[in-house]
Amino acid sequence: MIRLNLTTLAHAKPGHRQTVKIKVGAAEIGELQVACLQGELSFARMADDIFVEGTLSTEVKTTCTRCLAEFLASLEIKLADEITLPGAELTPEYPVRVENGWVDLTPLLLQYIWLELPSNPICSPNCKGLCPHCGHNLNGGECGCEEESSEEVAIDPRWQAIRQL
Ligand SMILES: [Zn+2]
Ligand SMILES: [Zn+2]
Repeated sequence: MIRLNLTTLAHAKPGHRQTVKIKVGAAEIGELQVACLQGELSFARMADDIFVEGTLSTEVKTTCTRCLAEFLASLEIKLADEITLPGAELTPEYPVRVENGWVDLTPLLLQYIWLELPSNPICSPNCKGLCPHCGHNLNGGECGCEEESSEEVAIDPRWQAIRQL
């Protein structure tokens, strides 16, 4: 949970601004685990809501689609969104609201992080992936399987007979 106190701003006149430095270590943001989240957000009181903008850098735990190992993906998220005031209705478009002076940015951060997370994350451009024969993670060294073992060699002779039917 990323909760900030916006009491002053919620009661201020339009045009009032507030800057908040964010520095969070390992945390859970909804279903995501992050190793860090930091940056600066600027909040501006508008007539009907609060506008937030700023850039945050974060490291999100995810799984490499090539070698299936967990790793931290470094992301930069650029927020530019509205936070509604007490009493306003929450919608998918405006998922966060100031309640008793506090705002929980989690739903908003989740939206931005999911947008930035690659759909096929890869731990490193040089990731060697898994051996197609034994499933060994090749980033940890060779597995001993034949480099060029062809399909035909791998087929059991009994299957070979069925194939010919
Ligand atoms: Zn990998
Ligand atoms: Zn292998």
